[in-house]
Amino acid sequence: PLSFRDVSRAALTTILDKNRHYYLDGKVADYIPELSKMDAKAVAIAVINEKGILIGAGNTQTKFTMQSISKPIALMLAVMEHGEESVFQKMGYFGTDKPFNHFSNLETMGKPLNPMMNAGAILTTSLISGDGQVPFDKILNMLRYITDNPTLDYSESVYASEKETGHRNRGMFYIMKNAGLISGSEEQLNNYFRQCSIELTTEDLAKIGFFFAHHCVRFDGDQRYKNSEMSKLIQSQMLIAGMYEFSGEYARTVGLPSKSGVGGGIVVSVPNQAGIAVFSAPLDTHGNSVVGYHMILDLVKQYNLSIF
Ligand code: GLN
Repeated sequence: PLSFRDVSRAALTTILDKNRHYYLDGKVADYIPELSKMDAKAVAIAVINEKGILIGAGNTQTKFTMQSISKPIALMLAVMEHGEESVFQKMGYFGTDKPFNHFSNLETMGKPLNPMMNAGAILTTSLISGDGQVPFDKILNMLRYITDNPTLDYSESVYASEKETGHRNRGMFYIMKNAGLISGSEEQLNNYFRQCSIELTTEDLAKIGFFFAHHCVRFDGDQRYKNSEMSKLIQSQMLIAGMYEFSGEYARTVGLPSKSGVGGGIVVSVPNQAGIAVFSAPLDTHGNSVVGYHMILDLVKQYNLSIF
């Protein structure tokens, strides 16, 4: 097999051109009205290799909202503050056969299935300490650190759109408040909407994949947050639930910890090697980017990247 160390811009361009037509098989998210304005044809792929060098093809500078890809970062911060045991007393380590916005298992088990679905993620964010917007600022600052990009910020218009239409998420928030899992005000839910609205590029996203692949060491070698247990926790959650109810089939076909968002991004960690990111807005019925998945599949097959 080809060595992934030698992956080139030309190789990525070939994969991108071969798969871009799949955008016709997907549908741009419209349940958050502001997202429906995204360009269905924009497509990008980026890799940060072992040496921390970035290789990209396509619209790698196009910004999109990270959506559910913010969930691993919120989990990291909650665990940094409270420890894994305390956080997972309030939610499960379970996989799922349910969509990302499902209420399971709030009523039957009394707590969310995992921190990668909306209920668990809303809870994780509410566990981060601080008043008002402070917990969100911690998430944003961590992302600015990981990407070494101080210009990262959230989109006010996507945030407003999520807040306006996020009735299911609001329902989950109040069920968890009723169960005593959440004690704060709705501002904590707003912080979840804000983190989903953080805009970044495919290049920024690849750096996040690299960070979790490398024991929380940044792509430029900065070791400030180095933590192997943390990266094991995050990558295992990405593997079992990062692609929602598609996670099992994805583990079979791709075999790498990954996290998708309804903004069309997918981040992939190749343990101890690289970060990969893809972007294309049209989604399949699970909420995963169609072109993105096909590009990842090709890359993984070509370079034999599955961990299995
Ligand atoms: N903001 C979205 C929501 O809460 C995130 C979901 C996703 O990316 N799967 O519905």
